[in-house]
Amino acid sequence: MERTNTHESHYASSLIEASLDPLFTISLEGKITDMNQATINVTGNTRIELTGTDFFDYFTDPEKARKVYQEVFEKGFVKDCPLTIKDHKLTDVLFNGSVYTSERGKVLGAVVVARDITEQKRISTELTEAKIFAENAAKIAEDAKIKAELATQAAEEAVKAKQQFLSNMSHEIRTPMNAIIGFTKVVLKTNLSAQQKEYVTAIKTSGDALIVLINDILDLAKVDAGKMTFEQTPFKMALSISAMLHLFESKVQEKNLEMVIEYDNNIPELLVGDPVRLHQIILNLVSNAVKFTNHGKITVSVRLIKEDEKIVIIEFAVSDTGIGIPEDKLKDIFENFQQASSSTSRLFGGTGLGLAIVKQLVEPQGGIIHVESKVNEGSTFSFTLNFKKTKEVYTIEPVILDRNNKLKGTRVLVVEDIVLNQLLMKTLLDDFGFEKDIASNGKIAIEKLKNKTYDIILMDLQMPEMNGFETTEYIRKTLKLTIPIIALTADVTTVDLKKCKEVGMNEYLAKPVDEELLYSKIVGLVKKTDSIKSNVSNTTEKIAKKRFTNMEYLHKRTKSNPKLIMEMIILYLEQTPPLINLMKQSFLDQDWELLYSVVHKIIPSFSIMGINADFEEMAKKIQNYACSKQLTDEMQDMVLQLENVCTQVCKELEEELDKIKIISNG
Ligand code: ADP
Repeated sequence: MERTNTHESHYASSLIEASLDPLFTISLEGKITDMNQATINVTGNTRIELTGTDFFDYFTDPEKARKVYQEVFEKGFVKDCPLTIKDHKLTDVLFNGSVYTSERGKVLGAVVVARDITEQKRISTELTEAKIFAENAAKIAEDAKIKAELATQAAEEAVKAKQQFLSNMSHEIRTPMNAIIGFTKVVLKTNLSAQQKEYVTAIKTSGDALIVLINDILDLAKVDAGKMTFEQTPFKMALSISAMLHLFESKVQEKNLEMVIEYDNNIPELLVGDPVRLHQIILNLVSNAVKFTNHGKITVSVRLIKEDEKIVIIEFAVSDTGIGIPEDKLKDIFENFQQASSSTSRLFGGTGLGLAIVKQLVEPQGGIIHVESKVNEGSTFSFTLNFKKTKEVYTIEPVILDRNNKLKGTRVLVVEDIVLNQLLMKTLLDDFGFEKDIASNGKIAIEKLKNKTYDIILMDLQMPEMNGFETTEYIRKTLKLTIPIIALTADVTTVDLKKCKEVGMNEYLAKPVDEELLYSKIVGLVKKTDSIKSNVSNTTEKIAKKRFTNMEYLHKRTKSNPKLIMEMIILYLEQTPPLINLMKQSFLDQDWELLYSVVHKIIPSFSIMGINADFEEMAKKIQNYACSKQLTDEMQDMVLQLENVCTQVCKELEEELDKIKIISNG
C-alpha cells in the first residue's frame, strides 16, 4: 500500500491495522504489496517476507485462489469466496476483495480481506453433526418404538394364544372329567358292595384331584392375564370355616393327627368378602399342613385383629407339627412350581402351584402372607385379610336339599350339546324331582321355548350352531322372555362373567356342576322369578304396591275350608304363569287368535281371587284389540300391566298359601 504522510493515510492505515481479519493488497500480477498485522499473525511470516511473494501460495488450493484473483480484476470485486490459508493450522476464510485505482481510474491492484470463519464453521459443523445425531437418535427411537410395539403385540398375542389354549384344553379336559365325576357320584348313590364302593370312591377322589389341578393351572392363567376377580358377598365366617375343615376330617383321622380350631368369637357373624377365594386359600394351606405332617396336630386359628364401624381385620393361621421347610427354601416356596426339596413331589405329590396361588389370592385383596418354619418342628402359614361389616340380611340361599314339594315339577330346559352331559343333567334333575327337556343347541332351545313354557334354563356356553351367549341374547331381545337362565361352562379362563350378565344371564355355574349348588341356584331363581319383571311401565310400578287379591270370595265359595282354598290357590299358581307367558308370546308373534283364547282362560280367575274388576275390563279390551287384529301401543301396555298384575297376584297367593299352611299346621 502506497503510504503518504497525510492524515487520511494515517487514518486509513489505523483502520486497516485495527481489523482482526487478515487484509492485504495485491498487484495486478498477484504479488502481495502490503498487509496488516492480522495477516502477519495468521501466516506467521514477517512483513518483509510476505511483501512481493505470490498471493496464491498462501492457500491450500492455489488454483482456486488464482480464480478469485482473476475475478477481482475482471469484475472489480469478489464476495465471500471460501478458501483455506496455508498456515500452521489451516485457517478457513471467506475471501472478499475489490480493486483500487489511481486518481485517473487506472486499476493499480486489489485490496482483499480474508475473514476467519473457523469458529462459524466449527459451530455449523457441530450443528450439522448435532442435527444428524438427533435425526439418527430419532430414527433409533422410532425403530425401538416399532420393535417394542411389535414385541408387545407378539406378547399380547402369545398371552391370548395361551389363554385360548388353556381355555380350549380346559374345555376338552373338563368335559370328560365332568362325566367321570358326575357319573361316579351317580353310581355311588346306587347299591354297591363295599368293595365296589371303595373302587368308585377312588375314581372320584382321583377325578376330584385332577379337577383341582386343572383349576390351579387355570387360576394361574387368570392371574397372568389379570383376570382374577374377587367378589363382595355377605357370608358367615364361622360356618364357612367349619364347613371347610370338615372336608379334612377323614384325612386327619387316617393319618392319626389332631385338628384344633381356635376361633375368635368376637368376629362378627356376617361379613362381606369373597368366601370362595378364602375357602381356596385355607384349603390349600390346610391340605399342605395335612400332607406334610405325620405326627402331632394341625391348628387353624382365626383371630380378630382390629375392628371399627366398617371393617374387621382378621388373621388366619395354619400351624402344623410336620416336616418343616429349610430356611433357605422359605423365600422360594411361593413361586410357581417350587417345592422345598426335589424329593417332595415323589414323596408327597403336588406340583408346587398351591402356595403361588395362595399368594396371588391374598395379596390382591390387600393381605400379606407370612411363613415361619423349622425343619422337623413344623410350619405356620398366616395371613390377614379385611372384611366389611354388614347389616344386610343373609342373602345366600342356604343349601336346601330336603326338596320341598312346591318346587317339584319345576320345568327345566337344558341346553347342552354333549350327550354325556345331557345324560348327567337328566339324572341330576330327575333326582331333584324336576321336569326337564333337552335341547342340543341354541336353535333347538329357541324352538322349544316358542312352544312350551319353562321355569328355568340351564345353558351351556360352548355349543355348535348357536352358542349360549347368542341364544340368551335372542331369548332376551327377540323372544323378550324373562325366564331365569343359568350359564354352565367348563371353561373358567375366558369365561367372562360380565359377558354372561350383559347378554342377560342370571347366574353362572362352573362344571363339573356341584349338585347342591345347582339345586340351590335353581330354587333361588325360580322363587325370585315371579318378582322380576322386564319392561314394567311407571304406572304398573305404581300399582305394584297395592294389594290385588281379596280372599273374601274364595272364603265364601269354600265356606273357609282351608284345604279347598289351598287347592284353588295351587291351581291358580300352576295355571297362571304359563298362561301369562303364552299371552306375551302370542302378542309378540301377533298370533291374535291365540292371544284371544289365552286371555279368555285368564279372565275367570279374576273374580275368584278377588282381583279388581278394572283388570277384567283391561283383559276384555285386549280381547277386543285381538279381534280387530290391531297392534297398538295401548295394547302392549295393557299386556304388560296384566302380566305385572298376575305376577303380583301369584306372589300374594304364595304368601297366602304359606299363611294357611302355618295356621292349619298350628
Ligand atoms: P405342592 O404342595 O403342590 O408341592 P405348594 O406350592 O403348596 O405346592 O407348596 C410348595 C412347597 O412348599 C411344597 O412342595 C413343600 O416343599 C413346601 N411346603 C408347603 N407347605 C408346607 C408345610 N406345611 N410343611 C412343610 N413344607 C411345606
